[in-house]
Formats: sequence, structure tokens, C-alpha cells
Amino acid sequence: MKRTYSTLLAAATLASALVLPSCNDSKSAVTAEAGSPTSEAMSGTAATAAAEDSAAAAGATAPSPGSIPAGSIADAATITARPQVPILCYHQIRDWRAKDSKGAKDYIVPVDAFKKQMQMLADSGYHTILPDQLYAYLTTGAKLPSKPVMLTFDDTDLDQFTVAKPEMDKHGFKGVFFVMTVSLGRPRYMSKAQVKQLSDEGHVIGSHTWDHHNVKKYQGEDWVTQIEKPTKTLQEITGKDIKYFAYPFGLWNPEAIPELKKRGMVAAFVLAEKRDPQDPLFTIRRIIASGYWSARTLHNSMVNSF
Ligand SMILES: [Zn+2]
Repeated sequence: MKRTYSTLLAAATLASALVLPSCNDSKSAVTAEAGSPTSEAMSGTAATAAAEDSAAAAGATAPSPGSIPAGSIADAATITARPQVPILCYHQIRDWRAKDSKGAKDYIVPVDAFKKQMQMLADSGYHTILPDQLYAYLTTGAKLPSKPVMLTFDDTDLDQFTVAKPEMDKHGFKGVFFVMTVSLGRPRYMSKAQVKQLSDEGHVIGSHTWDHHNVKKYQGEDWVTQIEKPTKTLQEITGKDIKYFAYPFGLWNPEAIPELKKRGMVAAFVLAEKRDPQDPLFTIRRIIASGYWSARTLHNSMVNSF
């Protein structure tokens, strides 16, 4: 379903029954799979690796991008040549409802499926990393923990806080939450206090615009409305710099990159399409973890897509 900008603005003023725009308006293809879920480990050596790497996985030691001297930052070709870290993109984490469309279910991961996916990652020895670690790795070749993975959550959905966070807590996983600020405090979306709690607990808050409008269409003041003001809002909520951005629908164009850089972003995330060889840091790839996927399918997709 396509929504126009004026519709979005009107929608933003509506009351409690509001359904906000989200990534499931995009047409990114994901593969359905009807196999039975499994929580089995995908590696036989997970336990020892997990013990050795738990400290590195915490992310506390990653330098901030601003502290890395410009002269130490690798060129685009070097960055592009480094092995990609698998990055998963989630939206809603809830059980399917009768009215959910077939397409929407790619963006709605049932609670039990999410639990099995997290359990598989833990059992298989994966370590969640955060954007500063990824940035240091891509720009300077800094070491990452073994079997790194990044968990990202778009669109500010409340169940990311109420369902996904507790499940991640069980495994010591940290994630990245790309917030669209128009939805803060709306029913079924996270509040400012919840976003602050995520940040305080070591998750990273990134920007996902004000109201999910397509970056490729921005002109003039749109950069203030969609990027500058939301970034300031998120900085006020978290007390931290907001340095990472996820393009709504994964859509970007070369004109957007300098605009994002001007406004403090050091890296930006797309979806499964190719990276830009000129600016791989602003086209970091992610795959949408589909609601149809078993833990095994998720693992296969991680291995095959990155
Ligand atoms: Zn989105």
C-alpha cells in the first residue's frame, strides 16, 4: 500500500487508532518457508567460543567513530572487501492475527519463532555487536568477536520493548533500535521512557526519520523535518549522540549521503540490495528476518546473504 506525504501528515495528527507507516509498505522480497522451527545449534563448538568471546561481545571497548583519526580510516574498496557481518532487521514481534496479510507476515515474527531464532543464535555461538564495533571493524579492521551478528529493529513498535528485549536479555544480546520519532508515545509504539531505558541498558538508538517518508524524495526543509529535528529529539531522550541511520524502506540515493553526513551520521543501513562501492559505510546491508522463517532458515539466510 502506498501512502502519500500529505496522508502521512494527516495521519500523524490522528488519535488512538492510528496505524503509522512502516517498512512493510516496501516491496523487499523475502523467501517464505514452511519448515518446522528448530532451536538446534548451528555449530558444534559454540560453548567454548562463547566463553572466550563474551567480553569482546559486550561492545564497551569499541572506540567511538569520532575518536578514529581520519587518516586511519580505510578507503571504500578496502571497506567493501572486508567480510560482511550478518545484520538482521526486525519489525513487529507478535503472533499473527487473522487480518494480517500474506505480505505483512514477512514483517511480523511470531513470538515463539523469535524466541527460537534468538536461542539458535545463542546455541550457535553468535555474539551480538553494536554499530561502533562494526564501524571500527569496517574502517580500521578492528577485531570483532567470533560469529558476530547485529540485531536491528525498525519502526519503534512496542513489542520490540515488551517481547524482543526480554528475550534478548536472557542471552545477553544487545540490539540497535531505529526509531521514527512521530510514533513515540502512540498506542502500540514505544514511549520516550522506553527508548531511554533501551539506551541506558546498552542498546543503541538510531534514527529512522520523523515519519518514514522516502529519503529519495526529500527537498529543502525535509532534511530538517526528517533528519535534524528527530536526531535532536533522540539525543535529548538518550543523552547520547545519534550517529546511525536506517533508510525507510531501505531506499537511498547518492544525494542523501552528504546530507546525512552533514547532520552527524557516520553510517547508514539499507536492506538486502547491493552496497554502494563509493560509500559502503552509508549502504550497509541488512536482511529482513521473515515471520515465515524457522531458526534454520534464518541461519541459512545469514550464511548465504553476507
Ligand atoms: Zn521502517
